[in-house]
Parts: sequence; C-alpha cells; structure tokens
Amino acid sequence: LTDLSGKTAIVTGGARGQGAAEVRLLAECGARVLICDVLDQDGAALAANLGEAARFLRLDVTSAEGWADAIRTCRDWTGRLDVLVNNAGIINRTLIADTTPEAWRRLLDVNLTGAFLGIQAAAPLMAEGGGGAIINISSNSAFSGHADPAYTASKWGLRGLTRSAAMEYAAQNIRVNAVCPGLIVTDLNRASPHLQPMIDLTPARRSGEAEEVAQLVLYLASPAARFVTGEDFLIDGGFIA
Ligand code: NAD
Repeated sequence: LTDLSGKTAIVTGGARGQGAAEVRLLAECGARVLICDVLDQDGAALAANLGEAARFLRLDVTSAEGWADAIRTCRDWTGRLDVLVNNAGIINRTLIADTTPEAWRRLLDVNLTGAFLGIQAAAPLMAEGGGGAIINISSNSAFSGHADPAYTASKWGLRGLTRSAAMEYAAQNIRVNAVCPGLIVTDLNRASPHLQPMIDLTPARRSGEAEEVAQLVLYLASPAARFVTGEDFLIDGGFIA
C-alpha cells in the first residue's frame, strides 16, 4: 500500500467528481489534503467527513491572491506541500462559431492559467521540503479534437505546460506529469448527449470511474514514480479518436 503519511497535498476542484475521489484516496493513504474549490458546501462536507486528514479552502484557481492564501494555509497547517493536483476544470460545449471571447477567456483562465498559477505558487514550498509531485489533469481530447475548441485548446495547453514545468523544476526535485482521462461520468458531463457515442468508441465498452483516475494520480504522487516526469498518461479504456 502506498504510504503518504507526513505528506501534504492540494487538490483543486476537490469538492466533487474526480477531484473528490483523488482527495479520498490520498487521505486514505495517509496524506493531509487541502481541498480547494469554489463549491463551499460540498468541499466543507467532504473535509468534515475526512476529519483530521482534510481541510477545505475556498479557492478560485484563477486568482493569484487565492493561491497565495492556499500556500499560506498549508504552511500554517503542516509546514509543507508535497503534492499538487491541478484538477479544477470547466467545459463550454460550444463550437467556435458560438463561443464568445469572454467564454473562451474564462475557460482558458480556469483550465490552463489556473494550473500555471498553482505551479508558480506551490513550487517554492515544495522545494523547501525537498521536492514534490505536480499532476495536471488534462484529457484524452488533448490527443485529438473535441467539439469544444476552448476545452481542447486548454487541455493541449496543459500538456505543454507540463513538459516545460518538468524541465524547469527537475533541479528542485519537483516532478510534473499530466493525466489524460477519457470518458468519466461525473457532474461535468452527466447531461451530455455524447456519452453513448463515446462509449461506442471505447474498446473497454464503458466509461471510466473517478476512482480509477485517482489510482493513476496516486501513483504519480508517490515515490514509486520518482523517475517519471514531463509525461502524459492516457487513461481512457483504449478510446479510438
Ligand atoms: P466536475 O465538474 O465534477 O468537477 C470539477 C470541479 O472543479 C468542481 O468541483 C468545480 O466546482 C471545480 N471548479 C470549477 N471551476 C473552478 C475554479 N475556478 N476554481 C476552483 N475550482 C473550480 O468534473 P470532473 O469530471 O470531476 O472533472 C475534473 C477534471 O477532469 C477537469 O479538469 C476535467 O476537465 C477533467 N476531465 C474530465 C473528464 C470526464 O469525462 N469527466 C474527462 C477528461 C478530463
């Protein structure tokens, strides 16, 4: 069993969906987890459920001040930060013709700039503790296209950010990897009309579970992955793009 006792993690978008599954698994393995999200009720309820292992902080990942607050919270709570999961994400579900510049910018802000701000804010505290692991949640649409160009661009962008950050921070023993899930049924896509067509393109003939993605995040967060950095990991049941 992976032992993360003594480690501290931040999971953005950790109040529900895949983020919540990642929070639960990291906590189960002994880490203390700061759940960061804009969903106050869900985030606070999950933290209460996990007792000493978790705290909730309201964080809009697009805010540099909010990130400074999150890092301060870790410093005050445990004095360290070992794992950052940039999981928060939104989707527009509009084609280019129907996407306003504001909606384009907001999506890129949350999905891509949010991760950039998180890495920039987290790296110094990680380095102080001897290093760490950053996991950016991209998507398998970062290997193909998707009928939401802003979403697709943000997820391809996360792959580039991952590689560059891995190069920049390797000297400080901070590893940076991307996880690229296929269809995982959560509140993000429950209402989408494209679920069955996507399952039809998935050789495994089902959607994935949030807990399955969390297992890959756990591996990348753990010392078992100590020589793994700058990589993208597809987890999509063999999806054929
Ligand atoms: P979800 O909608 O259930 O969870 C996303 C979380 O991010 C929510 O808790 C939401 O409140 C939070 N969030 C949104 N904007 C935020 C902001 N500005 N600041 C902080 N938190 C914010 O969706 P999910 O399926 O669990 O998605 C998690 C990640 O996985 C996302 O990055 C998503 O793009 C990615 N992903 C999902 C799928 C899928 O099929 N569900 C596939 C590939 C990638």
